[in-house]
Amino acid sequence: MVEYVIIGDGISGSSAAETLREEDPEGEITVITDEGETLYNRILIKEHAKGKLPEAPISIHDPDWYDERDIELSLNTHVTAVDVEEKLVHTHEGEAVSYDKLLVATGGTPTQLPVPNSDADGIHHFWTFQDARRIREAAEGSEKAVVVGAGLLGIDFAAVCGAQGVEGTYLMRGNRWWRYALSLEGAEIMHQGMRDVGVEPVFESGVDRFEVDDDGHVTAAVDPNGDRYPCDWAGVAIGLSFNTEFLRGTGVETDDGIVVDEYMRTNVDDVYAAGDITRFYDVLLGEHAQNGSWGSAKEQGRVAAVNMAADAAEEEFEWVSSYSITHFDFPFLSFGHPTLGEEHAERKYSDTEWRRIAFKDGKIVGGVLIGDLSPQSAFKGLMREGREVAGQKEKLLEKRVDLDSLAPPQEQ
Ligand SMILES: Cc1cc2nc3c(=O)[nH]c(=O)nc-3n(C[C@H](O)[C@H](O)[C@H](O)COP(=O)(O)OP(=O)(O)OC[C@H]3O[C@@H](n4cnc5c(N)ncnc54)[C@H](O)[C@@H]3O)c2cc1C
Repeated sequence: MVEYVIIGDGISGSSAAETLREEDPEGEITVITDEGETLYNRILIKEHAKGKLPEAPISIHDPDWYDERDIELSLNTHVTAVDVEEKLVHTHEGEAVSYDKLLVATGGTPTQLPVPNSDADGIHHFWTFQDARRIREAAEGSEKAVVVGAGLLGIDFAAVCGAQGVEGTYLMRGNRWWRYALSLEGAEIMHQGMRDVGVEPVFESGVDRFEVDDDGHVTAAVDPNGDRYPCDWAGVAIGLSFNTEFLRGTGVETDDGIVVDEYMRTNVDDVYAAGDITRFYDVLLGEHAQNGSWGSAKEQGRVAAVNMAADAAEEEFEWVSSYSITHFDFPFLSFGHPTLGEEHAERKYSDTEWRRIAFKDGKIVGGVLIGDLSPQSAFKGLMREGREVAGQKEKLLEKRVDLDSLAPPQEQ
C-alpha cells in the first residue's frame, strides 16, 4: 500500500487528496495543515470581510468529507522539516510521518512591509479565513483605513472599505494600480471604480512608517513624501513569501517558489508540488512561470495526484488561468500571464471598457479585459492553440472578436 502525504489543505492539496483517493482506492492518504479549519473557499473570504456573506457558504469541506474518503487529516499541525532520505515529514509536535510520495501544497504567506511599526495592532494582511474575520471586525464601525499594495489582493482591501462605508486611502508606489499589467488608460478605469466606492487612490506614494498610539494600535501611515494619512486600521498586500522553510537541506530546487516540471515533479524523487507555491513549466508558454489563482491551483493538485498515483509522467499540466474582480459596477478579468510578453495591443471602448493583450513570439500569453469579458474564450482558445496572431492586432481589438475573420494558421 502506497503512503501519500500532502502538506497543505488549500485547494491544491485538497484537490490532490480527492484525486488520489479516486486513482488509488487502497492508498494511505494523510493531509497535514497548520490551519485550524478544513478547506474553505479562499476567493470568497473577501465577501465575508466586506460584510456581505455569512460564514457557511465559504466552507467547502467538513471533517466528514475526509472521513468518508478515509483520508487522515491533521489540523493545527505545522510541518517543520522533511527528510527526503528517510522519507519522513516532521511536525512541530515532534511527530514523524512517513511517506512514499509527498506533495508540497503550502502556498504563501503575505509579506510584511519592511517599515517601522508594520506589525502594529490594526495592521492586517489577507490570506486566511481568520484574517477575513479580523478584517471584517476592524472595518465594521471604523471611519478611516489605509490600503497598501497596488495589486489583485490590495484591491480587495479597497473593496472592503467601500462595502463597509469606510473612508479608504489607497497608497500606491507608481502612477497607477497594477502597473505591471495595465497601462495608465486601463488603470484609470479601476481608479474611478475605487473612487466610486469611496476609496481615494494616491499615486507616487507608499508607506515609510506607521504611527501607533500608546497601546500599540496603528493611528496613521506616513508616506515617503512625508504626507500623513490617519487611519483606524490598515490593509497591507504587497506580495507573498512562499512557505518552503521546511525544505531547507532537502535539495529540492526552489526559485522564489518550488521548481517543478509539467508533471508537478520536483528535482527530488517522489516529491511533488502544486498550487501557488510552484514555479512550474508552462507548456503553453514554453518556459517556467508562476500563477496565483484558484483554478490553476486546483488543476495542479489534480494533475500532481494523477502522476503520483501512476508513479509515472502520466498527465501534463496545461492551463490558461483567469482571475476576476467583481467589486465595481463593471467586471474585470485577467487571464494567462498578463504581466509577460514583449508586444502588446490595447484599446479603450468606453469609460468602463478596455482591453489589453500580451504577446510573446507572436502568440497570446495573457491579457486584461475590463467591462466586456466576452472575448475571453476566444483569447484563451488562441492561447491553447498556440496560434501566432500578433500580426492581426486590429482584428483582436475589434469589439466583437470574430475568430473566423483571422487568417487560418496554415496561411501565417
Ligand atoms: C483574499 C484573497 C482573494 C483571492 N481572490 C482570488 C480570486 O478572485 N480568483 C482567484 O483565482 N484567486 C484568488 N485568490 C488566490 C487563490 O485563493 C490562491 O491562488 C489559492 O487559494 C492557492 O491555493 P493553494 O492550495 O496553492 O495555497 P493555499 O490556499 O495558500 O493553501 C496552502 C495551505 O498550506 C498551509 N501551510 C503552509 N505552510 C505549512 C506548513 N509548514 N505546515 C502545514 N501547513 C502549511 C497553509 O496554512 C494553507 O492552508 C485570492 C486569495 C486571497 C487570499
